Parts: sequence; C-alpha cells; structure tokens
Amino acid sequence: LFITLEGGDGAGKTTQAELLSRWLGERGREVVRTREPGGTPLGAALREQLLHGGEVDPRAEALLYAADRAQHVAQIVRPALARGAVVVQDRYIDSSLAYQGAGRVLDPAEIREISEWASRGLWPDLTVLLDAAPELGAARRAARGGSADRLEAEESGFHRAVREGFLALARNEPGRFLVLDAVLPVAELHGAVVARVAGLLDR
Ligand code: C5P
Ligand code: MG
Repeated sequence: LFITLEGGDGAGKTTQAELLSRWLGERGREVVRTREPGGTPLGAALREQLLHGGEVDPRAEALLYAADRAQHVAQIVRPALARGAVVVQDRYIDSSLAYQGAGRVLDPAEIREISEWASRGLWPDLTVLLDAAPELGAARRAARGGSADRLEAEESGFHRAVREGFLALARNEPGRFLVLDAVLPVAELHGAVVARVAGLLDR
C-alpha cells in the first residue's frame, strides 16, 4: 500500500504522515516513512542543491526531481512495497505536476511523462491532499522559525498556481485523492485520513 501526502508548504503533511505511520504501526503493519526530495543519499545531495543552490533552469530542475524520484522509487519504495510494507511518503509525482508544471512554465504532460519514466509508472494507491491557502502555509512556516528555502521564498502568485494545480489533479482523479481542508484541527484531519486508509488495509 503506497500512500502519499501532498499540499503546499506548511499544510501539515509531516504531522499527518507521522500520525498515520503510528496508527499503522499500532495495527501491526510495517511502515516506511519517507519523503521526496531527499529520501536517499543521492536524493539528499539533490535536495540540498534544489532548495539551497542557485537559480536552476526549469527543465534542469524538473530533471533533478525526476532523478531524485528514480533513485528513491528503486532504492526505497519498490523494495518496501514488495515485502508488504506500507509506504507513507511526503510528496511525490503530484508535487512535480503542481510545482514544476502548474507553478513553472513547463508543460504538465511532459512532467507527467518524465515522472512516469523515472518511477516506471508507479502511482500511489491513495494521495491525501492537504489543501491550504498560501497564507496559512506562510504563517505556519514563520511560526516554526528558520529561513525560507528557495521555493518558499517564491511570490504568492506562484503558490496560488501550485494550489490550483493540486486541486485540478484531485478533480481529475477523485478515486485516488482524499482532499482535506488543512485549517481543520490535527485530530480531525487524522480521523479522516485513517477512515479512508482503513478501507485499503488489505492491500
Ligand atoms: O515538503 P518539503 O519542505 O520537503 O519540500 C521542500 C521544498 O521543495 C518545498 O519548498 C517545495 O515547494 C519544493 N518542491 C518543489 N517541487 C517538488 C517537490 C518539492 O518545488 N516536486
Ligand atoms: Mg518545506
């Protein structure tokens, strides 16, 4: 069972991934908690470059995310799924479609193509989209302190386009997506997530 969490920065993906992982563990499932970019040693180097390096050409950026994904799927995700573990992952192909596709100048169909090539066509069974206004994410980031990475510092128009990109993906694939309003209390969101996951647990 492959579950991804998507949404803008500060939407609460990490919190929900942790709660879901604990819930699955309590039900006796092996859980692999991971993230993109940066879920492998190669990915960690790519993440550093992507988030804290200088400006990157949009096509180069898209290919670096695809390289991170190819390594991560091959090294972490597929082996975990093959032995029956549940993979709970922060960000995946939908982030590329929303950030490099809707947010940048690239054609989403091309992003989809390189993502499917990189992952050999691996799609999640369930994608939880934590939908938030860009202002909510920005406020949460400010509250947790630290400096913004290269993407977080983008102007608000970029983040609005990303949000709309995620929502459009969810509308096109209602069976794969669970869309939740990220302003809801943490416990309420968790309840909605596990209600959906419980129905998938035999996979
Ligand atoms: O969620 P996390 O903080 O790990 O994401 C790191 C950064 O990478 C975020 O600022 C996010 O906007 C960006 N990102 C991106 N394209 C992706 C994945 C993440 O721009 N495909
Ligand atoms: Mg972030």
